[in-house]
Amino acid sequence: MEIDCTPEELLIFETVGKAATEMNISCYLIGGFVRDKLLGRPTKDADIVCTGDGIALAHAVAAILNPKMHVSFFKNYGTAHFRYHDFDVEFVGARKESYTADSRNPEVEPGTIEDDQLRRDFTINAMAISLNKADYGKLTDPFNGQEDLKNKIIRTPLGPDVTFSDDPLRMMRAIRFATQLGFQILPETFEAICRNSDRIKIISQERITDELNKIMSVAKPSIGLDLLYKSGLLKHFFPQMVALSGVEIIEGKGHKDNFYHTLQVIDNTASKSNDLWLRWAALLHDIGKPATKKFEDGHGWTFHGHEVVGERMTPKIFKQLKLPLNEKMKYVAKLVSLHLRPISLTKEDITDSAMRRLLFDAGEDLEDLMILCESDITSKNKLKVKRYLENFELVKERLIAVEESDKVRNWQPPISGDEIMAMFNLSPSREVGVLKTTIREAILDGVIPNTYEAAHTLLINKAKELNIEPVK
Ligand code: ATP
Ligand code: MG
Repeated sequence: MEIDCTPEELLIFETVGKAATEMNISCYLIGGFVRDKLLGRPTKDADIVCTGDGIALAHAVAAILNPKMHVSFFKNYGTAHFRYHDFDVEFVGARKESYTADSRNPEVEPGTIEDDQLRRDFTINAMAISLNKADYGKLTDPFNGQEDLKNKIIRTPLGPDVTFSDDPLRMMRAIRFATQLGFQILPETFEAICRNSDRIKIISQERITDELNKIMSVAKPSIGLDLLYKSGLLKHFFPQMVALSGVEIIEGKGHKDNFYHTLQVIDNTASKSNDLWLRWAALLHDIGKPATKKFEDGHGWTFHGHEVVGERMTPKIFKQLKLPLNEKMKYVAKLVSLHLRPISLTKEDITDSAMRRLLFDAGEDLEDLMILCESDITSKNKLKVKRYLENFELVKERLIAVEESDKVRNWQPPISGDEIMAMFNLSPSREVGVLKTTIREAILDGVIPNTYEAAHTLLINKAKELNIEPVK
């Protein structure tokens, strides 16, 4: 082997070689595993290609390694997979493909290893290592992928227009690998992406979003997002984000380019947290700006209510991008809606009750909201950023102090809805809601202390006002 493998990897590969010899076929390690080993990146899966039936080979290998092991396979695609001690192994028969213009479903027929390498997406993903007895461990690198690895270049093995038009998802993958590995896309390869960008429309949104999320998960997602924008891909599946870009000038006054501002906020957030959904909140925090943009005479550009519009746009965008429509979506929408609140507390004369209200509204997501808000402080003026950050620190300290004394974040008002219903013999209704809110607001605003007695007195008075009689 020209690469370092763990004893476990070696055991698997030697077993694959043996099983293939018995079946009288050839087999190779290919793709991401070879690339990542040569780069010294960690690996947790491997792809194996053989000149024959990949599913049969997978079963033969599994039978030797552990007869009880489960092998899953897709007959239609001729692929099989098993997991051996946390290591995923994928099998496929070598293929030769030709594509038709209107679909990404290729005509497939069995092929040689060379045919198979030709249909790989990039030179760095087309290198193969033999697992056959005769030349075990030998690297075959038909497109000089090693040179591209050294020079950090993303390049297609065939002419880029052919590669991208055959399978337009590869355009997303090019940008994803460039972002993940810190590689440059060869200029003529990138030009082909720009030329073919509208072909992305034939790819399912789930697969596009998988790549997008991989881009969002790297240390500096802005690299990939900017490439998606510049290549023209982004506008096809995420026009709302493209609408953030550009600067309009009226009476000599411009606003900031919200696209590049957003990219910076995502990178800032990514430097503080690996949470994908917090990064999505950063991506969407200003998404309501284009719809709320106004030029007010004598005042300049405003984006009033963009956080509310952004909150409302979030479910629609999640649906459009086939992101999960669950509590993650609600979390992102909540952070978008609250993203201006912490910074608004940096003004002077802010009361404790404003602090309490934010603690209550943000609840368990306060730390994430603070990361987002701090990341949102971007300006070319370093002094301005420094001053904002200092004020922001003060807000953080005060929030901690108020939380310590009042314990608002997981706070429940001293009288519950059930108790209110019992006290006044009410069934669940609007009145119960009004009474509950009255108590909560009064305590959060500091109008009454956070005690049962004070809440009880207020409740009786408010009920009287609403002509609701307590049960005797
Ligand atoms: P990672 O697993 O980190 O995403 P990878 O290179 O292993 O990277 P996979 O999607 O696992 O990517 O695919 C394995 C290999 O299959 C790739 O290295 C490449 O050779 C080939 N491949 C995957 N998708 C395509 C595609 N759309 N077009 C051509 N070849 C592809
Ligand atoms: Mg892989």
